[in-house]
Amino acid sequence: MRTKIINSRIFCGNGEILENADILFDETGILDIGPSLHGEAKRVLNGSKKTVLPGFIDCHTHLAGLDAGDGIAVAFRTQEGARELLSSGITTTRAVGTKYGADIRLRDMIARGELKGPRILASGEVICITCGHCAEIGMECDTVGEVLKAARSQCKRGVDWIKFMATSGVLGVGPSTEVQLSGEQIKAIIQVGRAFDTPTCAHIMNYEALKTCVEAGITCVEHGYDMDEAMAQRMVEMGTWYVPTMAVTLMESTYIKPDTSRNRDLVEKAAAAQKKVRNAVKAAIKEGVKMAVGTDTGCPFTNPSMYAYATELSLYHMSGMDNREVLTCATRHGAELLGIERETGTLEPGKAADVVLVEGNPLENIEAVKDVCATFCKGELLYHKA
Ligand SMILES: [Zn+2]
Repeated sequence: MRTKIINSRIFCGNGEILENADILFDETGILDIGPSLHGEAKRVLNGSKKTVLPGFIDCHTHLAGLDAGDGIAVAFRTQEGARELLSSGITTTRAVGTKYGADIRLRDMIARGELKGPRILASGEVICITCGHCAEIGMECDTVGEVLKAARSQCKRGVDWIKFMATSGVLGVGPSTEVQLSGEQIKAIIQVGRAFDTPTCAHIMNYEALKTCVEAGITCVEHGYDMDEAMAQRMVEMGTWYVPTMAVTLMESTYIKPDTSRNRDLVEKAAAAQKKVRNAVKAAIKEGVKMAVGTDTGCPFTNPSMYAYATELSLYHMSGMDNREVLTCATRHGAELLGIERETGTLEPGKAADVVLVEGNPLENIEAVKDVCATFCKGELLYHKA
């Protein structure tokens, strides 16, 4: 349906911000942007006191959660997890760990128009060690030969990204910063990615593993909580992307009840990780590391109903990034990381009409992104505030 949003502030994502402007689009893409557009539309929304932005991109989600049950349960949860993102204005997500490769199937069904939802870039299961971090949603590998087979079979199944767990993490028994996959295994996975022209990303909570991954040419570091300025500089030289996922450990340390010894341990680890990630992000901002936004939705208390995405953006702002740059990370940079910048990530005629309308002005107050009025994926209204 041809749609026009009128009299709105428009954050185009390409450096341009228009005031009192209109945007006209349909399922084929964005048709026009500018003041007082003449084109007719079947649906007209008043955008005054609101802001139009490119649909947000969440580069780190677990659509079915982390402990997802049998295949049927995982399939349902994956679809529901994807649909819930729309209420946060998210029109594209990179799923970085879904059991049974349910994200791969859902990606294709949405792309074919059989189901409604955001655009998905899929990684299927994570590659990890036996009983290692996220083994519940992983392909367990203990030798170089096993990771080679796992990485190649993921490429054969058609993943967009290869995801592996280089270290332990906050959720799990024991320390959160222990090296799990060996240096040789890490290098082997990244080489497979290169051979199959498939980007690689890794869960990393330890300096040594971070160094191994960056030097081996990983595409994107997830978490990277031990990063310092020297490492950030090296990432700039190597062209390595960074998705810090700041909100998740804040959510866990705030909301998990320390009522058992295991939960007390989790809260402590999450609080320690939260301190580290703030330093890491400051170093990354100072050195100019390419950053995109990811929430780790699917972890405890990290989801759209807890405003995980808005919290993530607020934490970028609190770490010293100005709101314009934060919103660019959420849109254009996300699209660049995912290699879909010709299709989405900015509002320009000819691009897909991935459009979000929020109350107020997130350029002045980043918290405004909490209040999403409407989310359009490829021109189709998929979420509307009641
Ligand atoms: Zn994760």
